[in-house]
Amino acid sequence: VTVVGILGGGQLGRMLALAGVPLGIHCICVEPAADPPAAVAAEVLHAPFDDRDALAALARRCDVVTVELEHVPAHALAWLAERVPVRPSPEAVSTAQDRLLEKRALNAAGVDTAPYAAIDEPTSGFDEGTIVKVRTGGYDGRGQVRLPPGGDVTAAARQLGVPSIAEGVVAFGRELSVLAARGLDGTIACWPVVENEHAAGILAVTRAPAAGLDAVKRRQAEAIARAWLQRFDYAGVVAVELFDTPAGLLANEVAPRVHNSGHWTIEGAVTSQFEQHLRAITDLPLGDPSAIGCSAMVNLIGTLPDVDAVLAVPGAHLHLYGKAPRPGRKLGHVTVVAPDEHGRDDALARLRTLVPTPG
Ligand code: ATP
Ligand code: MG
Repeated sequence: VTVVGILGGGQLGRMLALAGVPLGIHCICVEPAADPPAAVAAEVLHAPFDDRDALAALARRCDVVTVELEHVPAHALAWLAERVPVRPSPEAVSTAQDRLLEKRALNAAGVDTAPYAAIDEPTSGFDEGTIVKVRTGGYDGRGQVRLPPGGDVTAAARQLGVPSIAEGVVAFGRELSVLAARGLDGTIACWPVVENEHAAGILAVTRAPAAGLDAVKRRQAEAIARAWLQRFDYAGVVAVELFDTPAGLLANEVAPRVHNSGHWTIEGAVTSQFEQHLRAITDLPLGDPSAIGCSAMVNLIGTLPDVDAVLAVPGAHLHLYGKAPRPGRKLGHVTVVAPDEHGRDDALARLRTLVPTPG
């Protein structure tokens, strides 16, 4: 059997491990937290991400090692990469860890972003308002301070207390994301571009495909994903979060891994992001990323809905991660798949009445 090591044992690790079962792939996760979601489908080494014994066990036992979160110590990935293939590469992961390096890499690859400044440069903020974000370690909107035009950027950065960057507030029409995979032979497969709604800084709803996206922007999104994949000679799935503006798409951030806005692919695409990631990093042929009809994914955040009511919605599939409820925590998701946009939007409207929105 092929053995895949995963740094992280959260819900993404769980869904990766589940996708590995039919492919005959055994997953071993390293996870510092107790009782992680991945434990139902993977072997778990309960240890910090830089624990030498755990990393040595991965290097010894695995054919390839990957990540299900980007916030792992870069030196741990580098140590592993000297002993076992790490896919995507440590450089691809550590660049996406740091919002400043990430934006510079995007711009260098010809991809536009929001205007930004490193906080160690003198900056007075942006005319349209400023968001100060921690450079590393932020997620689900944590580690961000939003300032009106003229707000005190230096004070906000001091409040965050760690290296941060200032970004201009983008007046986007909506948020999109593009997910794609690249195999070891350089083949690229791109899923349809999706539309994302956030609540209180957390992804709440994904609609796949995005409604009414013109071919120019669709191609632009695919070119953005391709630029990143080729820049890093990438293997695996990448997600790029995008702002849709009248002037075109801007890249917000890159996830060097499977992504919440790709959960719909489990039932809504010919090949799920989890299966595709495993195929890509184990040198199997990539699968077809086409959508099957129209899907919507609703996150279950903080509290769980009435399960019977959710499952009574036609086309609904429930995924629970086995996590204890806590405000702002992703506990599961529901995907509905319908033959067309109307059916999808009807089912989504029903789900919205059943699933509480955070914030
Ligand atoms: P997640 O983990 O959900 O991806 P995050 O903590 O990594 O979130 P971002 O994706 O950078 O943070 O920001 C979260 C949300 O805040 C974005 O999806 C968007 O709605 C808003 N946002 C972030 N940056 C900007 C910006 N420059 N202009 C306008 N809105 C922004
Ligand atoms: Mg984001």
